[in-house]
Amino acid sequence: MTTGDPTRRRLSGRTARVVLVLTAVAAILAVALVVVPMLRPAGPRPLFQLPVACGETWQLGTYPGHDDYDVDLFPTEGEAWGQPVLASYAGTITEAGINGSLGGRTPDNPDGPRGRGGGYWVKIDHGGKWETQYLHLLEPPSVEVGQRVAQGDRIGRVGSTGNSGAPHLHYEQRRGWEKVETHFDGTPSGITSDDAEYTVRRTSNNCG
Ligand SMILES: [Zn+2]
Repeated sequence: MTTGDPTRRRLSGRTARVVLVLTAVAAILAVALVVVPMLRPAGPRPLFQLPVACGETWQLGTYPGHDDYDVDLFPTEGEAWGQPVLASYAGTITEAGINGSLGGRTPDNPDGPRGRGGGYWVKIDHGGKWETQYLHLLEPPSVEVGQRVAQGDRIGRVGSTGNSGAPHLHYEQRRGWEKVETHFDGTPSGITSDDAEYTVRRTSNNCG
């Protein structure tokens, strides 16, 4: 009569224990490397400035259906097309390319076909879980992913790529995974999450 090899059974039992221990170690590492940073609170709000040239007054607006806290910026003087878009605060570029599709709206053909999403866009990581986003740029951003920028550095120009009705800059500030009310020069913009249509005017103090 055969009852199996007891040595083999002991070995496979040891292998199972080793696998169990390795799995537990991997799970603990995953928690330490992924979950703990996610739970860490955000750092203090950076002193963001308006993402447009020093001294210029721009209209900040929103409308029903525009997502919470999103801001559309239009210059109060002159054309929006081609206006410089500046980094609100120092940071590292984490996106610089095309979001959705570009469409065909250009200064020569402003009523061309609409694209989808953000068109040419830039995202900056400011550290402490703070990020800013800049959408509908005219042309490929003038920065690259991984590049460090200072506050006031030019990252692109105002356009109407993506899902945009008219040339403007769509702008967001994020803390962690959530959008928050934009603040400029230390004061809230007043563009909130009430899903109404209104505008405010602010003058840029992004003066380097
Ligand atoms: Zn917008």
